[in-house]
Amino acid sequence: SLDIKGIGKAFGGDDVLKGIDISVRAGEFISLVGMSGCGKSTLLRIIAGLERPDRGQIMIGDTDVTGMDPSDRNLAMVFQSYALYPHMTVRDNIATPLRMRKLSLSARMPLVGRFAASADALKDIDTNVVKAAETLQIAHLLDRKPAQLSGGQRQRVALARALVRSPAAFLMDEPLSNLDAKLRAHMRDELANLHRRLGATFVYVTHDQVEAMTMSNRIALMSEGRIEQLGTPSDLYQRPANLTVARFIGSPA
Ligand code: ATP
Ligand code: MG
Repeated sequence: SLDIKGIGKAFGGDDVLKGIDISVRAGEFISLVGMSGCGKSTLLRIIAGLERPDRGQIMIGDTDVTGMDPSDRNLAMVFQSYALYPHMTVRDNIATPLRMRKLSLSARMPLVGRFAASADALKDIDTNVVKAAETLQIAHLLDRKPAQLSGGQRQRVALARALVRSPAAFLMDEPLSNLDAKLRAHMRDELANLHRRLGATFVYVTHDQVEAMTMSNRIALMSEGRIEQLGTPSDLYQRPANLTVARFIGSPA
């Protein structure tokens, strides 16, 4: 589980997050929605460790990760602008997080152990890369460079790179917003499949109400740094807690 407890954050004198509590169950898909500037990305960055909260805690299972570096949290981030390494093949792009982890592990290992471990570890890395690529149907693209891919294919490489680490949770900030409508619908189905198949935990920021309504177990509707309502899609739709929620749900996507 991922527990977001009393998170507060100000920039300058501006209270951007005013005490956010969300308890995300293991395997749950939660969407964060709300008007531009309400604090969705800031909250996601705090969960990832890219930003420090002024108050509150982030717990992963029983571990308080609030002060930890992003790389120690075992979370996978996928941003709207998926930064792939342009000079590397798809294979190497996907393998990079695993290689980084192996390097940091072997640096902590006694010298004698390192060599025996490394051949096996390399084979494991390749197996996992191929498996992630197959899941996202890009196994035939492993030897290409990012410049030789379509936008949707690049998106999948970014997802495969997130997937390969078997993270405790996926954090996604409008990952489909650069795609055209058709591809977006397709990727929406694929993400939903991925969620079902892996039983993975997702915190998913989106502007797209259809995405939020169809993919989520629960939706957190934010407004001006607070959560207005946290509930299932049908809760928000049929029993909006207040006018802000009703307006948001009722407004065109
Ligand atoms: P959008 O839907 O447009 O992406 P959002 O809900 O993701 O919006 P945030 O990016 O979290 O919004 O920003 C929330 C508020 O905090 C905004 O008013 C923004 O200007 C402000 N803000 C975000 N990051 C910083 C920063 N590093 N320094 C100062 N202000 C910031
Ligand atoms: Mg944002």
